[in-house]
Amino acid sequence: MTENYLNSLLPDEEDWVRQIEQQARQRNVPIMEPLGIQFLMQIVRMHKPKKILEIGTGIGYSALRMLQAYPSATIITIERDKARRSIALQNLQTYDRHHQIELIYGDALEQIKQLKDRQETFQLVFIDAAKGQYQRFFELIHPLVEKAGIVVSDNVLFRGYVADEASQYPSRYKNMINKLKSYNEWLSRHPEYHTTIIPIGDGVAISYKLSKQCIGMKGPEIDEF
Ligand code: SAH
Ligand code: MG
Repeated sequence: MTENYLNSLLPDEEDWVRQIEQQARQRNVPIMEPLGIQFLMQIVRMHKPKKILEIGTGIGYSALRMLQAYPSATIITIERDKARRSIALQNLQTYDRHHQIELIYGDALEQIKQLKDRQETFQLVFIDAAKGQYQRFFELIHPLVEKAGIVVSDNVLFRGYVADEASQYPSRYKNMINKLKSYNEWLSRHPEYHTTIIPIGDGVAISYKLSKQCIGMKGPEIDEF
């Protein structure tokens, strides 16, 4: 299968990466899987975002890896789970990245509003939190995304179920899957972004923010600003 093949090509990770991956397994914290994180890191390398906003810190794995991909970045990351937040804090300190990564404790739906008051803006936003609320998160972060900025949404295909016409998934996921479906449709039609969904990892959506004057324009000049 393609995924196994691609996984077999991945280079061995450094010890600190393996340690946090192991910590995530032990504590049952979902982190981005290897192909997904490699893809996110590649976007970060290419885009070189000075400021990144992350929704859903977990134990700090993806934040540390984004910083590994582009060490000049600074990251603001939001987590509402107290236990995970404290492990994340420890990890940032252990790896000496607490000066570059600001961890905000609380519900992103509230905390994003405060970032707006602080007049923070970002070149990259990574949404990786409660899947039923992606559209709400996106609407809130939208004014904070700079022109030509990128929004990455993780888990938009959720185990492939989102693309599964036959609905052969456990019924407890129905509500979340329907929300992801409508998010993907809404995002794909958003007039201010170009979106591509990549079936890697758990499904990753890449949305590129157009500049205002280009909106509604057709043809090659659409990306000029
Ligand atoms: N990005 C991390 C994994 C995040 S797991 C990584 O790949 O390493 C998703 C996290 O989002 C969970 O820890 C969960 O507590 C958090 N979360 C979910 N909804 C949230 C919300 N509304 N506000 C803040 N954090 C949220
Ligand atoms: Mg995820």
